[in-house]
Amino acid sequence: MIRLSKSTVGDAEKAAVCKALDAEYLGMGDEVRLFEEELAAFVGGDRHVIAVNTGTAALHLALQAAGIGPGDEVLVPSITYVACFQAVSAVGAKPIACDVLQETLFLDSSDAQKRVTKATKAVLPVHYASDSQHIPDVYRFAESYGLSVVEDAAHSFGCERDNLRIGASGNLVCFSFDGIKNITSGEGGAVITGDSELAERIRDARLLGVQKDTEKRYQGGRSWEFDVSSQGYRYHMSNIMAAIGRAQLTKFECSCSKRQRLVSNYLNLLEDLPEVKPLPLNYQHNMSHIFVVKVDPLKREGLRSHLLSQGIETGVHYFPNHWLTYYKSDYPLPCTEKVYSEILSLPLHLDLKFEHQLIVVDEIKRYLK
Ligand SMILES: *Cc1c(COP(=O)(O)O)cnc(C)c1O
Repeated sequence: MIRLSKSTVGDAEKAAVCKALDAEYLGMGDEVRLFEEELAAFVGGDRHVIAVNTGTAALHLALQAAGIGPGDEVLVPSITYVACFQAVSAVGAKPIACDVLQETLFLDSSDAQKRVTKATKAVLPVHYASDSQHIPDVYRFAESYGLSVVEDAAHSFGCERDNLRIGASGNLVCFSFDGIKNITSGEGGAVITGDSELAERIRDARLLGVQKDTEKRYQGGRSWEFDVSSQGYRYHMSNIMAAIGRAQLTKFECSCSKRQRLVSNYLNLLEDLPEVKPLPLNYQHNMSHIFVVKVDPLKREGLRSHLLSQGIETGVHYFPNHWLTYYKSDYPLPCTEKVYSEILSLPLHLDLKFEHQLIVVDEIKRYLK
C-alpha cells in the first residue's frame, strides 16, 4: 500500500520520549519551554510562541484572544479542514463560508469582502497546501474593514514568504503538529504572535485561565493561590509531546529537502500529462504538506478507485464546509464547488520513494488512457 500520508519518527523521537518519561514530570514543564524557545528561534523575529495540544486549540485560543465571541462573524474559506469552522463556533461566533481562488484554492479576498457585515470581526485565511502568497491581500482587506486576522498555517510550518519563515510575521499565526504535518509532536500546535498582550492571554487561557501559571510550571511548580478573569481550557502541551517536537525540529532541514524533492519529482513526472494539473503554487519556498492536482471532474472518482485498487491511497482536501449540516449556508460558492470536484491529493510523506512516485504516475497514466 502506498499511503497518502503518514507519521515518520525514528530513534531520535523514541529516545526523546524515554528521556521525558525518565524525568517523571510528564505535564507542561521544561521540555515545553525549550520547544517554545526553539520554535521562536526557528521562525525568527521577535515572536512569542505558545505551544498547545492541537492546531484546533491554537485556532480557538487565537480567536478568543482577538476578542471574537458570540454575535460576531468570522470569514473563512469553505475549502479547509473543519477545525477552522469548529474553532470559530467554539468561541460562540458564526463562521461565514467564503469562496476560494480557482488556481490556488486560497481565500478569495474579493468574495470575502462581499460578505462583510456589521458583525464581521475577523478573517481566517488558510495556507492551503502550504502556500500563502495571497496573505498580503488578506491583511490589506482586513485593515480596510478593521478586522483581526488569524492565520491557519497548519500546512505551512517551515515555509517561507518574502525571505521570512511563516510565523515570523503576522498577527496571530497558528500551527498544527499533528501526526502527519510538516513536523509533529504526536498531536500538538502553537500560536505565534508578536503582540505580548495577546500572548499573555493565550498563555493563561491554555491553562484554565489561571493567571501566570505558565511561569510557575516552567519552574516545576504550579499556582496555589491565583485569580482567573476569563474563560480558559486544558489546552497546554505535555513534556512528552514537546520532546517529540524538539527531536523533529532537529531533523527539519532533512525533512524539508525530502518533501521538496518529492514535489519536484511529481512536477517532472506529470509534465507530459496535461490532464493532471498541479496547483500553480510557490513550490520552491514551500515545504509541501499535501500535493494537490486537478483532474477532469468526470474522471476523478474513477481514478481514485483505480489507484486504490492498485494499492495507492489518495485524498480530497477538503469537503466544502458550507455543505455540512452544522454550517450550511444558503448561498452557493461557485468556485469552491467547481474546484472541489477537480482536486485530488497524491501520496506525500517522508517514507515515500521515487519508485513509489513512478508507480503512482504510471497508474494515473494507465487509467487516463
Ligand atoms: C491539521 C489542520 C488543522 C488542525 O490541526 P489539529 O492539530 O489536527 O487540530 C487545522 N487546519 C488545517 C488546514 C489543518 O490541516
